[in-house]
Amino acid sequence: MPLYTSQSLKIYNSLSGEKENFNPIHEGNVGMYVCGPTVYSNVHLGNVRTFMSFDVIFRYFLHLDYKVRYVRNITDVGHIVDDVDEGEDKIAKKARLEQLEPMEVVQRYTVDFHEILKAFNFLPPSIEPTATGHIIEQIEIIKKIIDTGIGYEANGSVYFDVVKYNETNNYGVLSGRNIEDMLANTRDLDGQSDKRNPQDFALWKKAEPQHIMRWPSPWSDGFPGWHLECTAMSTKYLGNHFDIHGGGMDLKFPHHECEIAQNEACTGQSPVNYWMHANMLTLNGKKMAKSTGNNILPGEILSGENNILSKAFSASVTRFFMLQAHYRSILDFSDDAIVAAEKGYKRLMEAVDALSGISASHNTSSIDIASWKQLCYDAMNDDFNTPILIAQLFEAVRYVNLLKEGKETISEEDLKTFTTAINAFVFDVLGLSDEKTADSNNDKLDGVINMLIGMRNQARADKNFALSDQIRDQLIGLGIQLKDGKEGTSFSL
Ligand code: AMP
Ligand code: ZN
Repeated sequence: MPLYTSQSLKIYNSLSGEKENFNPIHEGNVGMYVCGPTVYSNVHLGNVRTFMSFDVIFRYFLHLDYKVRYVRNITDVGHIVDDVDEGEDKIAKKARLEQLEPMEVVQRYTVDFHEILKAFNFLPPSIEPTATGHIIEQIEIIKKIIDTGIGYEANGSVYFDVVKYNETNNYGVLSGRNIEDMLANTRDLDGQSDKRNPQDFALWKKAEPQHIMRWPSPWSDGFPGWHLECTAMSTKYLGNHFDIHGGGMDLKFPHHECEIAQNEACTGQSPVNYWMHANMLTLNGKKMAKSTGNNILPGEILSGENNILSKAFSASVTRFFMLQAHYRSILDFSDDAIVAAEKGYKRLMEAVDALSGISASHNTSSIDIASWKQLCYDAMNDDFNTPILIAQLFEAVRYVNLLKEGKETISEEDLKTFTTAINAFVFDVLGLSDEKTADSNNDKLDGVINMLIGMRNQARADKNFALSDQIRDQLIGLGIQLKDGKEGTSFSL
């Protein structure tokens, strides 16, 4: 039986404001879309936190034996500076400032994004579509929205008429905003814009003559609106109605509100059953953001090269630090907090390592492993509560220490259950890695190479040059270069 049949997962749905039982549309399958990065600069640690929240959610679904299609896009066009409709495209602006092709900007920061995710042990999504790869799909959606009378063309651009939409639907259903209040609180358009109402948003923008990123469309040579991209890519791969849509809290309005409106206008149905929003990582009490410079880069954490850091921290320690907070809580970054997380992470890993040295006995145990294990599941079933799961893992650390000191006993079967559960939650679900294992493997590799260097030296002393050359050449074949110097032979990997 798949594991999900024995667990009852609850998810906090931003749309209802309540924790709801998770019932997927197709039994045993989960379709999840998460808004990806706008690749115009390096991802900062705040972005990493949001993607990590969804990485753990993805991992838990997999652990529960669901078949998951996880789609996370790359925004490589259409995201306007300050998230508004009038102004420069974030990627085009960066390309202008750095005198690069926009696609060079996109390539550079997509590569950076992938490297960071790899370093922080993220699972790759099932599909990673790009906005520029889905222009045709976006144009088709715009045509449909125009056909309903809710989309309108003005001077080569196309906008979504939120006032008209709101006559039959609820614009504000996700964010709780009220359109009358929104209209009352915005300045008049002063004839500056082609929009009918200030709240209308762009589906298609006509490109200025100097604008490089442009595609032909029935309305103009131009480019799509940011909100439209996610509608096109989510529905293409997950259908018009899918299980989960996620992103950072700051995307709830206008981005996700507009996605719902586009879908409703186009298909007559609300696209998503569970809207999930991850909360922000702050620094000095303020949101980490690319635009304000109030941020830390993930690479700086790993190298320690940032004034607020007392030293470097590993990717797993950073993961552990982030997962000690629930994804819906704000988390403030500080050196003290990550130093404390490092201590906790090491304590946990020591216990995981010690587990393999513990032997079972026939004596009865007062530790109830089955109940402890269910408490771990209960934590994750309660809207992916990683801090409670980590607290349960520290209960396990306490048990391990009692077992180590001989103050407790454990049966063969319980030990097996205990070890399997700890490994599953620590490595598969939280995505931590045992860095000590990696370090000790490196030490072993160094030892083996040094042993071969010793054998090669001996072969040379014996004038067995065939053997000494063979050792050198085969190491080169493995990408290991030997360097003979005055102080002996060294190597580089
Ligand atoms: P962007 O590249 O700006 O579109 O952002 C990519 C993702 O990171 C979005 O889901 C944002 O909501 C999220 N994000 C941006 N800033 C932060 C932050 N300070 N903390 C957590 N998530 C963030
Ligand atoms: Zn999006």
